[in-house]
Amino acid sequence: MAEKFKAFVAGEWFDKGSAGTFLNINPADYDDVVGEFPSCGKEEVDAAVASAKEAQKKWALVPAPKRGEILKRAGDLLVQKKEEIARLMTREMGKILIETRGDVQEGIDTAYYMASEGRRLFGDTVPCELMNKFGMSIRCPMGVCAMITPWNFPMAIPTWKIFPALICGNGIVFKPATDTPATAVKFVEVLLEAGVPPRLINLVPGSGRNVGTSILEHPNVNLVSFTGSTQVGRMIAKKCGESLKRCSLEMGGKNAQIVMDDADLELALEGALWGAYGTTGQRCTATSRLILHKKIADVFTKQFVERASKIRIGNGLDDKTQMGPVVNKEQQDVVAEYVRIGLEEDKADLILGGRALKEGEYSKGFFFQPTVFTNVKRTMRIAREEIFGPVVSILTVDNLDEAIDTLNDTEYGLSSSIYTRDVNNAFKAIRDIQAGITYINVPTIGAEIQLPFGGVKNTGNGHRESGHAVLDTYSEWKSVYVDYSGRLQRAQIDD
Ligand code: NAD
Repeated sequence: MAEKFKAFVAGEWFDKGSAGTFLNINPADYDDVVGEFPSCGKEEVDAAVASAKEAQKKWALVPAPKRGEILKRAGDLLVQKKEEIARLMTREMGKILIETRGDVQEGIDTAYYMASEGRRLFGDTVPCELMNKFGMSIRCPMGVCAMITPWNFPMAIPTWKIFPALICGNGIVFKPATDTPATAVKFVEVLLEAGVPPRLINLVPGSGRNVGTSILEHPNVNLVSFTGSTQVGRMIAKKCGESLKRCSLEMGGKNAQIVMDDADLELALEGALWGAYGTTGQRCTATSRLILHKKIADVFTKQFVERASKIRIGNGLDDKTQMGPVVNKEQQDVVAEYVRIGLEEDKADLILGGRALKEGEYSKGFFFQPTVFTNVKRTMRIAREEIFGPVVSILTVDNLDEAIDTLNDTEYGLSSSIYTRDVNNAFKAIRDIQAGITYINVPTIGAEIQLPFGGVKNTGNGHRESGHAVLDTYSEWKSVYVDYSGRLQRAQIDD
């Protein structure tokens, strides 16, 4: 019998939704059923929005430093439960334990950062042009915020959204990905234990089609914060446009690491392996392309392939495992399909991997070999489209300008990296790369929560997660003028 997990709406836990239930299985061992979850639909979304809307009125009156104290307690509880949640997360989505611990740690960091924002939430005070008049701007809550999240960072991404939304005084409707509802349940339990008012936070697991659509069409949802694929994000933007909801979108990537001929090659190799195969290549910031200066391309490729071929694949709960499975069968098939496309297209060479692993210890999971293509051209689909798996396309260039031009030649603009010892190269890259994040001598993965996170071009729509920039997503500015002259003073007209 699978463990039964519950949804949480309007202050009540329940184990069956209006669309029934769904099972969540371990991608490293599909006989291991992580749990059975309520599948929610319009009924639960309507109740969740009504509850969040009502509770938000009181929450908005709680002084922000007091809201911050609750977030601080949530951070402390996540510290206590870090190992338990990390193990559950590995079971439900496959990435290795050190990474799931890191995922929870990101939630802890966000809790503490946003807790302290409760004592800032800075606005401006400005001089007014007329005498005896005062001007300032303050942040106001948005109202009901709906979070639609992906499976690859089941704790970090919901915390990036929910903690800033709470500190800004909003009510929450949270729809996690169907591959990672267990981590979402643990997170909501932590929020409640920390003191978030029960009716303020609502958890509605279920499909994108059912729950997602009901959220997008609900007139009382003021903001939708979405992280996921560009395809779904585009549709969400359209829907939100129709009803003029604010909508924050963090979407796909096709990130690249440049390695120049003056780079520390050992450092660049370690970075490339971590960036490409960490989370089995399923990070939005994963290194999907390696852009190598021609002088070092052969030697770098040889060593990269040698080391990638030694990566230990297996169940993420085993400490010796370096790369877990991909998240589900569909993702395994997508990766295999891209390998087929790579092989059929214009003379790319498959020099490592390329196969789903299905035998022996891998027979009950969705494993895929670390895969490398060389002789990849910019025009090929494997150089342009997000694959979201352990596949790297290697491109070779003659100089820095061509490297940056190649890096920019994609519809996406999330993360980017350059390895060079030349400070001039580094600063040109910082200036000319079109991406929300540029790393110098660091792989394309590894963001810290005190800086803004997000992408340009088709990766995002101008909003950012993390840092203080995220507060602009979850609050409305109000400008306030106080005239204490006791008479009508007309701006731009009177002296
Ligand atoms: P996805 O787009 O399939 O799903 C994301 C969420 O949207 C899930 O909760 C899903 O149930 C929901 N959804 C699906 N269809 C919907 C619909 N019609 N209406 C409303 N909601 C719907 O993405 P995924 O497979 O979960 O995640 C992988 C993608 O996420 C990749 O493209 C990756 O790059 C992206 N991602 C981006 C970032 C970032 O910050 N830019 C971070 C992590 C992941």
